[in-house]
Parts: sequence; C-alpha cells; structure tokens
Amino acid sequence: VKKIAVLTSGGDAPGMNAALRAVVRTANYYNIECYGVREGYNGLIHDEFLKMGARSVKNIINQGGTILKSARSMEFKTKEGRQKAYDNCVKHGVDALVCIGGDGTFTGAKIFNEEFGIKVLGVPGTIDNDIFGTDNTIGYDTALNTAMEAIDKIRDTATSHNRVFFVEVMGRDAGFIALNSGLATGALDILIPEKKDSIDELFANFRSAEKTGKASSIVVVAEGEKLANVYELAEKTKKEFPDYDIRVAILGHMQRGGSPSCADRVLASRLGYGAVTGLMEGQTNVMAGMRSNDVVYTPIEEAIKKHNEINQDLLLISEILAI
Ligand code: ATP
Repeated sequence: VKKIAVLTSGGDAPGMNAALRAVVRTANYYNIECYGVREGYNGLIHDEFLKMGARSVKNIINQGGTILKSARSMEFKTKEGRQKAYDNCVKHGVDALVCIGGDGTFTGAKIFNEEFGIKVLGVPGTIDNDIFGTDNTIGYDTALNTAMEAIDKIRDTATSHNRVFFVEVMGRDAGFIALNSGLATGALDILIPEKKDSIDELFANFRSAEKTGKASSIVVVAEGEKLANVYELAEKTKKEFPDYDIRVAILGHMQRGGSPSCADRVLASRLGYGAVTGLMEGQTNVMAGMRSNDVVYTPIEEAIKKHNEINQDLLLISEILAI
C-alpha cells in the first residue's frame, strides 16, 4: 500500500481519536501517505480528504469524540454513492481504507471492497462491545466506567431516601454495559436483551431483598431490553409495590462522551497500528481486533455475522452477590 485513507463512521466512541492518531503515525513511520476523510462515508462521496501528517493528530489521544467527525451516510448505501466514493479514492490515488466504526460501518466497507476491489480494514470503535473478533471494542471500557460512576452517584440518593431506581444504560442489542456496570455497582437486578427476563423474577428479587432488610435498590436495564422499557418497569413495579418510592434515570449520551480510559487509549493505539501493518502484510476485508492481548484479524463477514456471547459466569455472580 502506498496511500491510505482513514475515516470514523457510525456512532462515535471514546478512543476513536487515539485510533486515528495511531493509524496516521504508523503510516507516517512506514512512509505511507495518509488522508483523513471527514464525516464517515459522506466524506468519501463529497471529496473531503485531508492530507494528514504526524502533527495533524497532536493532542488528540486524550480527546473523546472524533476530530474527523462521524456520520450515518444514506448515500453510501446506494450504488451511485459508492461509485462517487470510489472515483474520489482513484482521484487521490488511495489504495486502501481504514474504517473505524461498528458493524454498519464494516458492512459498508465489505460491500465497497467486493464492488471495487479497494482494500479495506476495519477497526472496532463502538461503546456497545457487540463486535465479534475482539475481546473489547474501542470506547467500551470508557463508557462502562462512565456508567459505573453515574450509577454510584444515583446509589447515594437511592440509599438516602430508600428509593428504587431503574437505570437505563446504552446497548441497543447488547447487554455488556448493563451487565458489567450492574455487577460493579451491586445492582439488585440486571435486565439485558441476551437473557430472558420476567417481571415475576424481578418482583421476587424485590421481595427477597426486603426480607434481608434492603431498603433501597438499583435495577440496571439495557436500552435494548425486550421485557419492557424503564418507564413501564417502574409503573408495573409501583402497582405491585405501592409503598416503593420509585425513580427512573436514563444515562443516555453521557456514556458516549469523555476522555478515553487508559485501556481504551492503549487498545486504540494497538489496533490503529495493527490496521496499517495488517494492510502492509496484504490483509484486506478483515477487522483488526484484540484477543487475549494479541492483535488478530477476522474476516469482516464473520465479525458482522457472529456475536460476542455474554459471560454466563458474570450473570450468575451478579445474581449471587445482589442479595
Ligand atoms: P454503531 O454500532 O455505533 O451504531 P455502526 O458503524 O454500526 O456504529 P451504522 O449507522 O449502522 O453505525 O453504520 C455506519 C454507516 O455505514 C452507515 O451510515 C452507512 O453509511 C454505512 N453502511 C451501513 N450499512 C451499509 C450497507 N448495507 N451498505 C452500505 N453502507 C452501509
């Protein structure tokens, strides 16, 4: 590879900047020219290529969000849009693309590769941790810690007022943030899409907690929980336990922001480096991920189709320790 372009796409995640920095500086080290593309696939289509050198990425390893900006590009989902994107890659002499994002971003990259033959390599940047082929995605650790700190604060008020809190954390289809932040904050119950939850089980947990003298409780609920949303859960619980003082808190986008944790910066640096060296070694249509502390390359097709399983031990431990 002689010239690469790098973009951030889909939902932003803390550590995307650290990954971008690693891509640009690794390319620089190996004398590969590097362009940053603004606003995800939109920038490819609308010719927003910025030439980047080592100094273009100074002071960003500690910044949340993405300096390249991210976008959800509807145009890239069309053949005409992708044709324009390819024409611009040819115009700039770009022969490989590093795409930092989630499974939607990887789907786009795979289609682009298969249509035009341009080399693509994915880097998993999403707080949901729902990508197969990596133990953790970039941004997940930071989001988890943000959720944990917020729930700790909610617990202070729950304890002071003998309240029950339903706290919704992010995770549209995955319960990783909910399970781990719930375990780390001693939640009474954790409701996630991967587990078949029932309202009776939740009520049973409230009853047994009462018996042990527990006066306040936190229930952590993943955004994508199928049983009910936090408001419905609060309403149903109030009907069953009219004496409970119940509140709802939705943590929302605060979980996506903030300075990346040390773990995310290191992960992003290693995967950004692994993206460029992988392309140099001839890897394409793959995602660079971290497994057992080693960089591994997984075909994008597999990364999209398969899912990381929830750790059943964590579920069991959280139940045993909650009472
Ligand atoms: P997150 O997990 O944080 O939502 P994501 O990468 O999954 O991140 P998406 O919005 O699903 O976010 O995808 C990002 C972009 O990838 C889309 O806006 C679109 O430009 C491109 N993309 C997604 N699916 C396709 C597809 N089937 N064909 C072409 N491009 C696609």
